[in-house]
Amino acid sequence: MQPALFVSHGAPSLVMEPGPSRNFLCELGPKIEQQFGRPRAILCISAHWNSATPLVAATAKPDTIHDFYGFPEALYRLRYEAPGAPELAARSVALLEAAGIKAATDPDRGLDHGAWAPLLLMWPDADIPVAQLSVQPGLDAAHHWAIGRALAPLRREGILVLASGGVVHNLRSLSRGGQGGGTPEWASGFTAWLAEKLAAEDLPALLDWRRAAPHADLAQPTDEHFLPFFVALGAGGDKPKAKRLYAGFDHGSLGMDAYVFPGGA
Ligand code: ZN
Repeated sequence: MQPALFVSHGAPSLVMEPGPSRNFLCELGPKIEQQFGRPRAILCISAHWNSATPLVAATAKPDTIHDFYGFPEALYRLRYEAPGAPELAARSVALLEAAGIKAATDPDRGLDHGAWAPLLLMWPDADIPVAQLSVQPGLDAAHHWAIGRALAPLRREGILVLASGGVVHNLRSLSRGGQGGGTPEWASGFTAWLAEKLAAEDLPALLDWRRAAPHADLAQPTDEHFLPFFVALGAGGDKPKAKRLYAGFDHGSLGMDAYVFPGGA
């Protein structure tokens, strides 16, 4: 059985910038294979694909989408040419619809950097098929948790559920210089709250994060980078046991935490 994973993808330039968070992702692919076996395919939920209802890319050969501006030219030349996973897309939509969640496949969508950037580090050979799933910024944590619950059976079919977002994601705070390289209290307070509620398996508090978490409005000015987390949480089972695999900040306040949910789907 494959796990559900949540990773923070950081800045697009992460793939080219040496550092602890990049090193972590480089080691994560082999580590997953060692512990859980090689995924048959990957369902990747990206913060960078937003839609009103869930869409799953059924593209046979997904393009690499360079959905960012003002980064070094070399970043725009990177390609991640993993095969698509149309069957996984169809199966995902069937599971969502069976759970009463309206969903559809998208025949053309490529891989945005929320998907390909971590995947390029985790599986640089790009030889595991990938289907991407969108998030719904207009809908809440409970909706994304329900998506994860509906898709949990995929894990028993050898599918890695990989959610990619950001545990603290406030780009305005980065542009102010990240407080001289230090991590502000509101950022570390938010990640500490998350770790604490996960350890306590306090699902009601987690789903109510926008009101319950300290500094939620600073840590996540908008919802979309945190919503993938709830898909991984839901795919982690009824009573998800989370293990934090990485904790840290890039550029002062960009939270890079990663969690694995290895338990019963
Ligand atoms: Zn992002």
